[in-house]
Amino acid sequence: MHCHLDLYSNPFSVAKECNNRGVYLLSVTTTPSAWGGTSKVGSGYPRIRTALGLHPQLAHSRYREIDLFESLVPKTKYIGEIGLDGGKGYLEHMERQLWVFRRVLSCVSENGGRIMSIHSRASSKIVLDELKANPNAGTPILHWFTGTKTELKLAIQMGCWFSVGPNMLTTARGKALVAAMPLDKIIPETDGPFGKYNGKQLEPWDSAMVPKLIAQARNTDVEAVQAQLYDNFRRLVS
Ligand code: MN
Repeated sequence: MHCHLDLYSNPFSVAKECNNRGVYLLSVTTTPSAWGGTSKVGSGYPRIRTALGLHPQLAHSRYREIDLFESLVPKTKYIGEIGLDGGKGYLEHMERQLWVFRRVLSCVSENGGRIMSIHSRASSKIVLDELKANPNAGTPILHWFTGTKTELKLAIQMGCWFSVGPNMLTTARGKALVAAMPLDKIIPETDGPFGKYNGKQLEPWDSAMVPKLIAQARNTDVEAVQAQLYDNFRRLVS
């Protein structure tokens, strides 16, 4: 869940390797104009699905692509990367980001809802408020969640899912958040090629290390975590 396949230096060989390894992958896009090309990278590989996105960090420069986004929604079951970013360098564009995010959520709602991979850096509360205002948008998966414990509780109450990568499990704060998430709402991710672990760029199949890292963070059995994550995946896509 949540990998930028098109942003690897060699996306076609990474896709082929995913197929060889039997990896299931949600390839997210950052602009609607990239969706067609990125879909081609995964085409012919049934375990690779491409999500339609408009990244919050690009919302201020690419908001004109919202019409294209809306026209493509009927063609895909998966939406992402979408959301908001209240961090340094992006907070000043929050008004535009919100405009885009609201258009996205209302369009997805009108189309019956989708599985959505959502960015919420330094904006968890606003993201949750917007999701609450759009209850028919589908299944929200909060990617690399970094909110407070209180915001996490609210997200859990709202039925959100969480995609968790190795990078999130390197900090004490990240581990504490993962330990407080319902295990039946967690899906592994990498956020590759941006996601890193021990300084090394993550490949899509590195999501295989996530069950062990979650088991360590929760002080529980790795096999039980692995089985639950598989079950989560089946429930999510069924
Ligand atoms: Mn990402």
